[in-house]
Amino acid sequence: MPVTTSPGPRAVVQRIPAYVPGARAAVDQRAFKLSSNENPFPPLDSVRDEVARAASLLNRYPDMFATELGEALAARHGVDPAGVVAGCGSVAVLGHVLQAFCDAGDEVVHAWRSFEAYPILVGLQGAVGVEVPLAADGRHDLRAMAAAVTERTRVLLVCSPNNPTGPAVHHAELVELLAAVPDRVLVVLDEAYVEFVRHDDAVRSRELLAAHPNVVVLRTFSKAYGLAALRVGYAVATPDVARAVRTASTPFGVNHLAQVAALASLRAEDELLERVDAVVAERARLLAGLRDQGWSVPDAQGNFVWLPAGPRTVDLAADAVAHGVLVRPFAGEGLRITVGDAAANDRVLELAHGWVTRDGSAQG
Ligand SMILES: *Cc1c(COP(=O)(O)O)cnc(C)c1O
Repeated sequence: MPVTTSPGPRAVVQRIPAYVPGARAAVDQRAFKLSSNENPFPPLDSVRDEVARAASLLNRYPDMFATELGEALAARHGVDPAGVVAGCGSVAVLGHVLQAFCDAGDEVVHAWRSFEAYPILVGLQGAVGVEVPLAADGRHDLRAMAAAVTERTRVLLVCSPNNPTGPAVHHAELVELLAAVPDRVLVVLDEAYVEFVRHDDAVRSRELLAAHPNVVVLRTFSKAYGLAALRVGYAVATPDVARAVRTASTPFGVNHLAQVAALASLRAEDELLERVDAVVAERARLLAGLRDQGWSVPDAQGNFVWLPAGPRTVDLAADAVAHGVLVRPFAGEGLRITVGDAAANDRVLELAHGWVTRDGSAQG
């Protein structure tokens, strides 16, 4: 019998744009993959060995609550273990936060341009995203975000450092924001790149968590800890907020290998943070080089830089691919380029130099 109709998904699902992952090196494995903000270093031997050993337990379900990992994380954040919820990447954890706190029609305030997963997760939840434009220097406009809070606002999302533009919010600004926003609004601080932040007024999330029961901090092992393939991230909050998030979480959402690798990474933290320092040093070199060429690159506090290429964005991304560099274009706006190893960054500087237009202007 011919099929004439198929089950229709919710209208909101049809409207949501697909997540665009960073380009993969399909054609040329030697291409520099600077499109997904990954860590350029391969896993540590100590971490890889523990993961290999853990493979002998693949027939068993993992610890559903990632107990040992949760305890280790609670100790380092100075909170009750009941206040930590791990998940399948911090993106999944954010989805569970929204599921636990937003009814259809509730508002979620966030900056824009920011992490592209936000409109998808907010829309899927049936909530309404209220996008507050970034300031001209790519920074969050936290006063405008506070002013955007209404009776319907349930969540206010802060991405710091902001993906894809790079700047981080300052502690003093967040203190001011938290004083301005009603306590019934959950303030979610997405700190996926926090380990790369190097400025004087860096956010002290531990103080904010202690003073404000409406704060949720999101962290991930995908970037600084180099475990993107294993998908593990977590939220830190009050036990009450965490309980709600746990209720919404996918059962057994953090697999056994991920739990083992995350714990091994915490044990090898000094070694991993040295690698972060190396990325930060390369970031400074890349940023200075691009600015010398005339590009107005915003402050870069993550493991990536933002090249505001405007209308030339898509063409420049194609040129980069042709020269063996995969970057993440945001059509009409700019390119997000992950800080890679020295050779990759040299290639980026070379390319960007070639993109400076003949009249000397680097911008789109
Ligand atoms: C990469 C990233 C995450 C983390 O994603 P995982 O799901 O933990 O891999 C979260 N927020 C932002 C802004 C990111 O760029």
